[in-house]
Amino acid sequence: MAPIPAVNAIANVIAYIGLGSNISAEVNLPAAAALLAHAPGIVLQRVSPVYRTPPWGYADQDAFLNAVAAVETTLPPLGVLDALQAVELRLDRQRAVQNGPRTADLDLLLYGAALIESERLIVPHPRMHQRGFVLVPLCDLAPRLMHPRLKRTMAELMGSVDVGGIQREALTLA
Ligand code: AMP
Repeated sequence: MAPIPAVNAIANVIAYIGLGSNISAEVNLPAAAALLAHAPGIVLQRVSPVYRTPPWGYADQDAFLNAVAAVETTLPPLGVLDALQAVELRLDRQRAVQNGPRTADLDLLLYGAALIESERLIVPHPRMHQRGFVLVPLCDLAPRLMHPRLKRTMAELMGSVDVGGIQREALTLA
């Protein structure tokens, strides 16, 4: 007789998290990665090199440091978002200007091959395919990974964006 499948078994999902900081980034980016690594339900698998990106959005602010982490998780997508926002909150207490530069910005880029469009969460992240500072570190981890909506690999997407000014840093994360 065939074995009875476990009811409510939760499959582990590989998710990709974008990390960025432009306030004391040399301290806050490693802190964000460490907090992510200790988040319940999340196991940090690999972290990309760190890249320095010229300021974007507001020109009058410091350069960003960016990286991407691959994590394994048993959390549902909104659970991952909650975990990312908890990390932001832990590091963001001293924010001086609302909507200004951030000590830590964590985005859920991909959750397996899931396509999600809800009020709180859009996955794949709606701007990830336009951002060199996401695609460059993501390609260090998974260049052949397919964007589940656009059906193009991360390497193909990186070939279509401006990666000028994105420089690899000596800093390494957990
Ligand atoms: P931001 O601070 O600019 O990264 O935006 C945060 C807001 O975007 C939050 O209100 C989230 O609910 C929403 N959001 C939607 N999709 C995502 C995603 N894939 N990753 C992170 N935040 C998201």
